[in-house]
Amino acid sequence: MANRVYFDHASTTEVDPGVLKVYTELLQKYYVNSESLYDEGTEISRMMEKARSAAAGLLGVHADEIIFTSGASEANSEAIKGTCFACPGKKHIITTAIEHSSVMNACRQMEQVFGYDVTYLPVTEEGTVRVHDVEKALRDDTAVVSIMYVNNETGAVNPVAEIKEIVKKKSHAYFHTDITQAIGKIPVDLDMVDMASMSAHKIHGLKGSGVLVRKKHVPMVPLISGGEQEYGYRGGTSNAVVNMVFARTLRTALENEKKYGAYIKDLQAHLLSGLKTIPGVLINSPENNCGCVINFSYEEIPSEVMQNALNRAGFMVSARSTCESHSDNPSYVLQAMGFSDKRASSCIRISLAHTNTKEEADRFVSALKEIISHYGKI
Ligand code: PMP
Repeated sequence: MANRVYFDHASTTEVDPGVLKVYTELLQKYYVNSESLYDEGTEISRMMEKARSAAAGLLGVHADEIIFTSGASEANSEAIKGTCFACPGKKHIITTAIEHSSVMNACRQMEQVFGYDVTYLPVTEEGTVRVHDVEKALRDDTAVVSIMYVNNETGAVNPVAEIKEIVKKKSHAYFHTDITQAIGKIPVDLDMVDMASMSAHKIHGLKGSGVLVRKKHVPMVPLISGGEQEYGYRGGTSNAVVNMVFARTLRTALENEKKYGAYIKDLQAHLLSGLKTIPGVLINSPENNCGCVINFSYEEIPSEVMQNALNRAGFMVSARSTCESHSDNPSYVLQAMGFSDKRASSCIRISLAHTNTKEEADRFVSALKEIISHYGKI
């Protein structure tokens, strides 16, 4: 990857060297099943529980409120479907038009296969949900309200503090939030949040690793039936070493947020000012964003063409969510914000981390100018 620039950290991240070191060391040593009753199994189990407590402490929840999962997609599915199935009298879900596909498609499945009524809340042109829309949508039979903290395509930050308060005050629904793109980037407060999902590989951790926070009072049935692992909420042999390093990953991410947050914001501002000098470049991310994502469109060049041209110029970027990268459809997130199909079909997402530099940002702006001039538009 010499000279290649990685601007796709919302898609996934390089594994932190410290995390990788701990992981490889532990993996060689601790291979027996954490449920085994001999000493080695008990030791692994004890270490995993220590890591669970550490992760819980960092998130401000109790250890038995942490369910280790394979990532945020699984956590989102479990939160939405697992809770709905445990609340049989309630057949209504509230979510938004801009959720990640793992929430969106879980809700669609609840609608189409299980006959639930789902409200997909609209967003403002800033890409965020209005609190009074949430309030209006609440019903006596609302089982779950699932609203993401930070949007993965635009970096827009939802007013979760107000939303959770309204949900708690005005209903008996359980409030779930997908914090995958928020944790390690902005402060996340899980007080009054019933469930939260996150993923390790977005914060310089391992792929196939995540957590669902499920507060003790939330009813839930497991989607993966099996043994009593994860308090009975997720069957299957524990990925013990991966779960152990989750705590380390989270700690490093929260430390890095403090250490590098201002640097990344400054880098984002620098890149943004460069992009704004290019005629025809339209910024889609709102002012109020998580500080590391820039979504823009150059309407004359469709996303896929632009992405290929940037790839040839040495830049790794996304168009929309990587989980949607094989779809030709315009971005449903930008459409929900009221942007035209043309603008929503020509978007590019840059997502930064502390490993990026101003020099890379400047090179990007020059490359973009070059690509656009090649298309005869500058
Ligand atoms: N939610 C959001 C907001 C995401 O950005 C992603 C990753 N694209 C996911 C959920 C899914 O995460 P995972 O890859 O861990 O399943």
